[in-house]
Amino acid sequence: MSDRKCWVDHSGIVLDSIDGFDVIHCESCGFKHIIPIPDEEELERIYKHEYHVKDKPLMLQHQLEDADWHEATNKARLESIEKQLKRKGTILDIGSGNGFFLKQAVEMGWQAKGVEPSDKAVEYCKSIDLDVVHGVFDQQCADSIGKFDVIHLWEVLEHLPDPAGMLNLCRQVLNPGGLIVIGVPNDYNKLQKIITSDLDEKPWWVAPPHHINFFNRNSLEKLVRRLDFEPLHYEITFPLELFLLMGKNYLHDPQLGRECHAMRKELELNLTRTGNREVLDKLYNCFAEAGFGRHAVLMAGKKD
Ligand SMILES: [Zn+2]
Ligand SMILES: [Zn+2]
Repeated sequence: MSDRKCWVDHSGIVLDSIDGFDVIHCESCGFKHIIPIPDEEELERIYKHEYHVKDKPLMLQHQLEDADWHEATNKARLESIEKQLKRKGTILDIGSGNGFFLKQAVEMGWQAKGVEPSDKAVEYCKSIDLDVVHGVFDQQCADSIGKFDVIHLWEVLEHLPDPAGMLNLCRQVLNPGGLIVIGVPNDYNKLQKIITSDLDEKPWWVAPPHHINFFNRNSLEKLVRRLDFEPLHYEITFPLELFLLMGKNYLHDPQLGRECHAMRKELELNLTRTGNREVLDKLYNCFAEAGFGRHAVLMAGKKD
């Protein structure tokens, strides 16, 4: 079972094999990723034209239906960022999608800018007056975009062939004392392992070629340290796997998925509306300590 595999400079134990890709625990990268790693051109084509149109046609509609929840979630995250930075400032959202985070940041007094490769998403952002650059965040973009106090990367690093290269580019546009805020799926976690080994599900989070890298708190902290960032704060999002363990198998049923999402939404909105957000934070900190959480969210400071 535990074969080692090599591909170019990447090698490690094979964890899963799907559709011609192997997930390895890469010894040189220090995190898990698929091999072969898809090349940049192929991926750019996917994200520019196909991702939001073909793979996620309902995304904007769902986001609009959930607008109050997105507002509460993004507000809480921005307050958490503000606590670390100790002020508001300029923020760059890389992979800003339909702009819900940007919109909230602007409403809270941040100077916010986005970068987004998807045609449709940029078109939508422009229609609601958000400041978004159409394209990928590469060296050319980094050279011309200006400097920021915070860079927000939500569900970005898991899609990139070279996440370390991306974080180095982020360094270049961060002001002294600046922060990176990384949100990635928290994969190969204990709950997922129980569900695949004891409840006979396939590892559903392995979805090549879209998802290239798989992180958890540990590998994420190791990665940012290697690139001269100091981990400052860690949080998670609701461990959705709990629904699977409660008998709500949403994996093959998008409608049930929406229902589970609605329950999580209610939990968070009820505690937010009643002024008990700190109760939610306490609960989620317990999950975080146990290694649970759908997303691993790490805030790290730029070392000068
Ligand atoms: Zn590697
Ligand atoms: Zn993704």
